[in-house]
Amino acid sequence: MDKKVFKLTILGARGSMSVCGREFDTYGGDTSCYMVQVGDECIFLDAGSGLVGAPVDFEKIPVILLSHLHLDHLLGLGMYPRLTMKGQKTEIYVPVKKEADAREVLGRLYAPPFWPLSFADYAGDISVKKLDFPILIGEAVVDGIEGNHPGGNVAVRIRYGGKSLVYISDYEHEEVTFSRLIDFAKGAELIMYDGQYSDEEYEKRIGFGHSTPGKGIELMEKAEGKRLLLIHHDPLHTDEILKKREKKIGRSNVSYARAGSEIVL
Ligand SMILES: [Zn+2]
Ligand SMILES: [Zn+2]
Repeated sequence: MDKKVFKLTILGARGSMSVCGREFDTYGGDTSCYMVQVGDECIFLDAGSGLVGAPVDFEKIPVILLSHLHLDHLLGLGMYPRLTMKGQKTEIYVPVKKEADAREVLGRLYAPPFWPLSFADYAGDISVKKLDFPILIGEAVVDGIEGNHPGGNVAVRIRYGGKSLVYISDYEHEEVTFSRLIDFAKGAELIMYDGQYSDEEYEKRIGFGHSTPGKGIELMEKAEGKRLLLIHHDPLHTDEILKKREKKIGRSNVSYARAGSEIVL
């Protein structure tokens, strides 16, 4: 492996719930899960259904960082094969309130009657920690700030080798947090942004906690970011719809995330 690689692999970019069928072949039906390789370390951003087919062998202990605890971002965790591998450690960072116990909070979902197994039943070594920024993962520095989403959500910036990837999923634009995010994303090589709704759709879904491609482009321009990747595709948006929208945007540095694709920073 290239020791200095900084690479994003899109394992799932669908928002809200997973979908399947030929009409979703190009952009994919699995929910939010992104694998970021930083040298010989690996960070998963969210644990949606895309995590189920993710690689399981790593040189270093892989980290799963959860932006928030909505089900579409957690769907794949219980079925991630690495968690069943004896002696293999996985670290999970969970955003919870100061006084909360991260393992207990996550364990409410991954326990009967909601799921057949508790974390203690898995053969793998599962370490659940409170998400507290900044985090050092090898030579990568991971930072985060609060966004705007029902129940809360964190935006994440990964810095490695002088480059940055910014992950802003499940975010609804509003003035105060938007200007903070512009500073937060300053100069990033890649900005991943919640582009779930068109402007017209957004008008009918104010308060749902999601944003638009137009706001993503505004953020990229104001932050002087180099490339924008639109994520959290609406379950009703087929390949045909997303392709049309991508074409209409017509910028070589703006695209909708396609499951299975890779971006080297
Ligand atoms: Zn979501
Ligand atoms: Zn959400």
